[in-house]
Amino acid sequence: MATSKFASLKEVLGDRLKTDEPLSRFTTFKIGGPADFFYEAKTADELARAVSLGRTLNLPVFILGGGSNILIGDKGIRGLVIRNLSMHIGIKGVKAVTHSGGEQRKLVFVEADAGVPINKLVRFTVDEGLSGLHMHLGLPGSVGGALYMNSKWTRPEGYVGDAVYQVRLVTKEGEDRIVPQSYFHFAYDTSALQRTKDVVISVVFALSADDRDRLWKIATESIMYRRETQPQGVLSAGCTFRNLSRAEALTLGTPNLTTSAGYLVDHAGLKGASEGDAYISPVHANFIINRGKAKAEDVVKLIELARSQVLKQFGVRLTEEIERVGEF
Ligand SMILES: Cc1cc2nc3c(=O)[nH]c(=O)nc-3n(C[C@H](O)[C@H](O)[C@H](O)COP(=O)(O)OP(=O)(O)OC[C@H]3O[C@@H](n4cnc5c(N)ncnc54)[C@H](O)[C@@H]3O)c2cc1C
Repeated sequence: MATSKFASLKEVLGDRLKTDEPLSRFTTFKIGGPADFFYEAKTADELARAVSLGRTLNLPVFILGGGSNILIGDKGIRGLVIRNLSMHIGIKGVKAVTHSGGEQRKLVFVEADAGVPINKLVRFTVDEGLSGLHMHLGLPGSVGGALYMNSKWTRPEGYVGDAVYQVRLVTKEGEDRIVPQSYFHFAYDTSALQRTKDVVISVVFALSADDRDRLWKIATESIMYRRETQPQGVLSAGCTFRNLSRAEALTLGTPNLTTSAGYLVDHAGLKGASEGDAYISPVHANFIINRGKAKAEDVVKLIELARSQVLKQFGVRLTEEIERVGEF
């Protein structure tokens, strides 16, 4: 059975199809076992074709963007893993819009393949003097992953989903569609993609014309603040747990009414706690770090430790921001 699926995949995907490919090197955690079948899509059309093929063959399909928000199990991922390396960015159109009060602004539509690194897109848009994504300078990962998580930044506040205009995607049923922003029901760490498992092929962002120097200043301040507050030069997948909403913090009566998951893990006394080669960052308690040889199993043990201690000490049930993928 697996042999015939291999032959069917190979017939279309050619020699770039690999089997038993270790995935650890494609994640920022540098953790994760092998993919049964592995393919690198270099264009949007290659991505769409590989997704449709995998689904026609009834294989589970997993899209790997920058691998910066996932923990892949030590036993790896069954089915087809497609690493998305599609890289096209371009300006698709310009429209003048009149705001209430009569002020005219230029809205510019920028199209990016889902595989484009968010940082590359931010630099492109800021260089073009376009406002809407500038606060995300320094965010790891790809456009597709950022839509899946509706990735965000706090200073100044912004969600990637806010700037989305329309998206080309392939649905679970294999339909190639264009959908508007409203399709995604974007919210904190949430988009409809987490439920539908549609695959994003490319995205059109609607951005406002603005002063290039002003945008670079804000973008630079954002990345400086990121460098001051997040551990640098280490192997991690960013924040482990989601923050609480203001309403949850008030209802649960968290210490100092904090909404910060990192604050709770820190005040549970867990900074520096370790399991195997994984440890909770002393700089930012919501980051788990791989010292070099950590297993997914070690990270899971630390996640469970933090979750149980925070529940015991503060009555707060933390939910994960990091996504666990594959077999553990
Ligand atoms: C040091 C560090 C700092 C971080 N800072 C932030 C931050 O400030 N704000 C924030 O929100 N996050 C942050 N993160 C988390 C992470 O960078 C983001 O969530 C990022 O947007 C994930 O993108 P990715 O391409 O790496 O996704 P991946 O980890 O590759 O995948 C995540 C999920 O998205 C899905 N996916 C990927 N591409 C597609 C696609 N084309 N179509 C459908 N689904 C897809 C994957 O299948 C998977 O389910 C940080 C991570 C690190 C390591």
